Amino acid sequence: MVSSSLRLLFLSTSVGALGSGLGGGVELTLLNIAQAMQRRGHQINIVAPAGSVLAGLPITQIPGRLQETAQTQGRDAPITLPVDAVLANMWDAARQMQGKYDLLLNFAYDWLPFYLTPFFDRPIAHLVSMGSLTDAMDAAIAQVIDSYPATIGVHSRAQADTFAFGDRCVILGNGLDLSLYQFQPQPEDYWAWVGRIAPEKGIEDAIAAAQTAGVALKIWGAMPDEAYWQTIRQTYPEANISYEGFLSTTELQQAIGRSRGLLMTPKWIEAFGNVAIEALACGVPVIAYRRGGPAEIVEDGKTGWLVEPDSVMGLVEAMKKLEQIDRYTCRQHAETTYSMAALGDRVEAWLQRILVL
Ligand code: UDP
Repeated sequence: MVSSSLRLLFLSTSVGALGSGLGGGVELTLLNIAQAMQRRGHQINIVAPAGSVLAGLPITQIPGRLQETAQTQGRDAPITLPVDAVLANMWDAARQMQGKYDLLLNFAYDWLPFYLTPFFDRPIAHLVSMGSLTDAMDAAIAQVIDSYPATIGVHSRAQADTFAFGDRCVILGNGLDLSLYQFQPQPEDYWAWVGRIAPEKGIEDAIAAAQTAGVALKIWGAMPDEAYWQTIRQTYPEANISYEGFLSTTELQQAIGRSRGLLMTPKWIEAFGNVAIEALACGVPVIAYRRGGPAEIVEDGKTGWLVEPDSVMGLVEAMKKLEQIDRYTCRQHAETTYSMAALGDRVEAWLQRILVL
């Protein structure tokens, strides 16, 4: 019999402090799942790198050196940990704290938590936030799913399918606190691009499309590599673009909400794409490459347009058809599929299932 009030220990990403933006969508996902679980009466504690901030939630702050992001390495990249690794320190803390919890939920796309799973007394659920990137990670996740079925959660079918064991992953989608996202019926005259400014996110295609279409593009997101941004800026000198910084969710939703549409141009199989549902929640249509998570979120011709991957001209053509998309339909789609309640139902059912196994 599973208790109705669970004690849950969340282990955050080790690539950046919560609130820094370096963790990408994982930061918002962790916050939303924590709040959804709290609202259902579960107790939450979060173990995260020192300097983490997450409004209203208890955080055990762990010092140590940050992990490099997995998407910057090649397929055969070995496992590496810096000296005094925050990842190792976080899992050492988890080992000592585990007795006070029913279940641990791992948000880090790192080898160590998978490797350590059999050595823990408490069950560990892993929410995998990216698709397959390295052979070493694939092998570590596969070993866990073989021994502990149902403990691997992912965000989309496309993400699951990047793994050989994809059919055994639990697909959770994602969700938002929709009360924080205001529906904006009337846009201003600019387009939006939102995300980490990193090669896998393909911002250059959105800029090329904006230049060709002769429209203004505003950009928000964490900038881990300033040199990368400068190179792109110089490649498209004619583009009417502006970098607007990294905003809090409250400010970001206002900025996205006033845009005509969101462009999503991922070069990788985006596991989900939180920014797509954030845009829809504000009534903003999404024009995205037909690749990865966004292709499962956007309903072609209803909540935006899906475009042949890597086709800048495809983006430009889709931008011309924007008026066919009704902004209210976008908001409604977010409400039915991506509410906190819908996310909470899916995650709670997943964790309960692990606990009865
Ligand atoms: N984000 C933010 N402020 C900004 C720009 C982005 O908080 O100014 C957040 C956004 O809310 C989203 C995350 O950054 O949760 C990006 O996540 P996504 O899933 O789109 O991509 P990832 O970075 O995980 O690949």
